[in-house]
Amino acid sequence: MNAGHPESWYAATATPFPTLPALEQDTRADVCIVGAGYTGLGAALELARRGVSVVVLEAAEVGSGGSGRNGGQVHTGQRNDQVWLEKTVGRDDARRLWKMAQEARTHLLGLIAEHDIACDFRHGMIHARHKPGGEAEDAAHVEHMAHVYGYDQLALIGQDQLTHELGTDVYHGGFVDRGGGHLHPLNLALGMARVAMAAGAVIFERTRATAWRREGTTIVVETLAKEGRSGRVTCDQLILTGDGYLDDIAGGAAKARVMPINNFILATEPLGQRADTIIRSDAAVADSRFVINYFRKSPDGRLIFGGGENYRPGFPPDLKAFVRRHMLKVYPGLSDVAVTHAWGGTLGITVHRSPYVRELAPGVRIAAGYSGQGVMLAPWFGKLLADAALGDGEGVALLSRLPTPPFPGGRLLRWPLTVAGLSWYAMRDRL
Ligand SMILES: Cc1cc2nc3c(=O)[nH]c(=O)nc-3n(C[C@H](O)[C@H](O)[C@H](O)COP(=O)(O)OP(=O)(O)OC[C@H]3O[C@@H](n4cnc5c(N)ncnc54)[C@H](O)[C@@H]3O)c2cc1C
Repeated sequence: MNAGHPESWYAATATPFPTLPALEQDTRADVCIVGAGYTGLGAALELARRGVSVVVLEAAEVGSGGSGRNGGQVHTGQRNDQVWLEKTVGRDDARRLWKMAQEARTHLLGLIAEHDIACDFRHGMIHARHKPGGEAEDAAHVEHMAHVYGYDQLALIGQDQLTHELGTDVYHGGFVDRGGGHLHPLNLALGMARVAMAAGAVIFERTRATAWRREGTTIVVETLAKEGRSGRVTCDQLILTGDGYLDDIAGGAAKARVMPINNFILATEPLGQRADTIIRSDAAVADSRFVINYFRKSPDGRLIFGGGENYRPGFPPDLKAFVRRHMLKVYPGLSDVAVTHAWGGTLGITVHRSPYVRELAPGVRIAAGYSGQGVMLAPWFGKLLADAALGDGEGVALLSRLPTPPFPGGRLLRWPLTVAGLSWYAMRDRL
């Protein structure tokens, strides 16, 4: 369980947000939502906006899961690329999934603009190749997206241009996505919570949902507050979220398909004039490693750098040193710069990196396993879960067609097998 907000640069620069009460009694709502990250809040604000009574149960604090800890990178499209989707679910569903992802982007930017959510959204996302070769693959991708999907926001960048743009010569070229971007993730989550509450959603913090059961035509959700008090929510529909923090309430099928892994980020001190020579266009950057390095600048000229992960409960003891090693491989010239913050978070991955979205039982739906790409998608998937709760299940049905097999090895062996597999791919980054 996440204990609350880590000592991140995001928490240090969060817009003020009230401490919300824990649930101390029994209550009723049309829809109960478990988890106050982007997915749960996206569902809550949609339901509340449409006049549905909604209660959100959050085991820790609003946005204290991946939604308040992530790299803030806003990726275009689904987590799987369109060619993989075409092969896996066919051209028609691949097109629908692309359209859905574009709707997710419009929704996110619309939310930020309409509700004036102060999360510093900035445009531009650079994909940088960490190995030589691969130009043809990038060119084919840019071409495919333009001609099959009409997406003209991608442009190739050569090695020299990229070196000038980023202020490092470790990359071999790549492409820019002008439709992507980056933002302050925690302020997005807090902003979404404010909008949901203003529309009538009730959020309880420090309140874990421990079990649910059907009683006649209703669903009963049992809760346990951190303060030790228990409660219960009686509802007609239940929405389960959790991503990397997914726990037993989601059931064995979900837990077999969504695996938690930890990923880490640092923030440097403000770089002053040096900031002008690093990522000149102010885009976000993600490289092509299996364990990706991803970085961007904060509005006050810090480098926010994500790198390194582990596959067991608990974070490395010295996170600043752990992530700094990755940063110095990309920016050796920053060895004299102080790291002011470092933190970790947990995200849910699936075997094929497709999100796990299902109706688990009548009236009980789940979305998790964004595999590191939930900033743009999760608020919209929350909206789709809300639509399904209100009778329009088209979006959830489409996402349910994405294959999300259980991790190999069954409940006992899946951890060692998956960790061995992930470690092998991580090692290949170093070759
Ligand atoms: C370090 C890191 C970097 C990342 N970088 C990026 C990035 O740059 N771009 C990107 O698109 N994505 C990124 N991600 C992924 C992104 O953060 C997630 O996909 C997204 O936040 C998922 O939102 P969510 O609401 O589904 O889950 P979360 O935000 O993780 O929220 C789940 C919530 O559910 C609560 N919960 C769980 N079980 C219970 C229960 N039983 N009762 C009550 N509450 C419960 C948890 O306390 C938690 O607050 C990153 C993730 C991490 C950890």
